[in-house]
Amino acid sequence: MPEPGNGGTVPDPVQRFPFRPLLLLPILAMAIGYFVASGRSGRSGEDVTREFEVMRTRARLFIPAGSGSSLAPSELADLAEAAIREIDRLMSPVGEDSDIRRLNSISSGVWIEVHPLTWRVVMEALRWHRLTGGAFDPTIGPVKRLFKFDRSEDGAWPDAGALADAKKRVGAQKLLFDREGMRLSWAQNGMSLDLGAIAKGFSVDRAADVLRDKGVRNAIIDVGGELFLMGMKPGDPPSAWRTGIRHPREGDILETLELSDRAVATSGDYENYFIHNGERHEHIIDPRSGLPLSKGIASVTVVHPGSCLAADAAATAFSVLGPEQTGEFIKNQSLGLFSRGIQAIIVSIEPAGGFSRREYSLDDKGALRTEESRIGENP
Ligand code: ADP
Ligand code: MG
Repeated sequence: MPEPGNGGTVPDPVQRFPFRPLLLLPILAMAIGYFVASGRSGRSGEDVTREFEVMRTRARLFIPAGSGSSLAPSELADLAEAAIREIDRLMSPVGEDSDIRRLNSISSGVWIEVHPLTWRVVMEALRWHRLTGGAFDPTIGPVKRLFKFDRSEDGAWPDAGALADAKKRVGAQKLLFDREGMRLSWAQNGMSLDLGAIAKGFSVDRAADVLRDKGVRNAIIDVGGELFLMGMKPGDPPSAWRTGIRHPREGDILETLELSDRAVATSGDYENYFIHNGERHEHIIDPRSGLPLSKGIASVTVVHPGSCLAADAAATAFSVLGPEQTGEFIKNQSLGLFSRGIQAIIVSIEPAGGFSRREYSLDDKGALRTEESRIGENP
């Protein structure tokens, strides 16, 4: 039976992964890059770093010779790359084989069957919509398209009529789904689905699954800054992977995270934005106002123990929710497995200048832990 987008339950993405206790390491701030010493080992070929363009961004795989698999790192990189490209092929807004392109071109009343992987991501996107009270909304496309996030200093503002019209074409509850047939349809014409805030994370999870299947314990998967840091950096002794923390304006490394077996995703206001009347607007749309986010938050980094999809969706959703509601969200989810082990690091722009950093996590008993500090001047 067809159902509206907000109904039904879908499996929790986290349950697919074994639960691992929280790292005791203090987690610092926003991750954007990682450091790997290139090295050699005779075990199964040499370390491989593979870089390629995908999903309108750059992907980077690092497969060490000591990955744990009997396959050579270059073979493993081929498999992981293919897994990431498959997600792009199915879920990009354009392209012959894309389910999303097809979905975005049908009229209401028409149903299309989608690939099981597309189905999974769409169901997750709807679940995040429901869990976040609508802050995460994969149907914001019509509004987003009215703005150009091209880093211009004097970006144009769309016409009020066009904005009001686009807002009427947003709302995940208007995406209809038929579970048995894995079919999707729209309750209204002119709608569109945009998986830009979740598909990159999912592609990272797919690549991690493929590598795990081949016996890999240690590797790094990075699709446009959404990461999976699998296992440890091989060495004697092995060490946690290190990932850099970027200052939202100065571009340099602010702090370093040391992580093992963690997914990390960041949404920042410094890559896709425009400035209008002196105010910066970023490419995340607040579905409540129907406008791009401005002021407030410079970046959100989410560390998750098992799912990069969850980290990716959460980084976008928490950007919309803001610090206080993010704390509430994490606290309220603490009884479910869902956000156990989640950590959110929010860098906010202070009205009086400078930035502050807030970190939310759960302690061993599932109680919310909040840390706050200032991180510098000159926004
Ligand atoms: P990035 O793509 O830089 O990693 P995000 O993961 O935060 O950043 O995704 C931002 C993209 O998500 C936007 O470009 C848009 O396509 C989509 N998007 C914007 N606002 C929302 C929202 N409120 N909910 C879900 N997706 C959104
Ligand atoms: Mg995201």
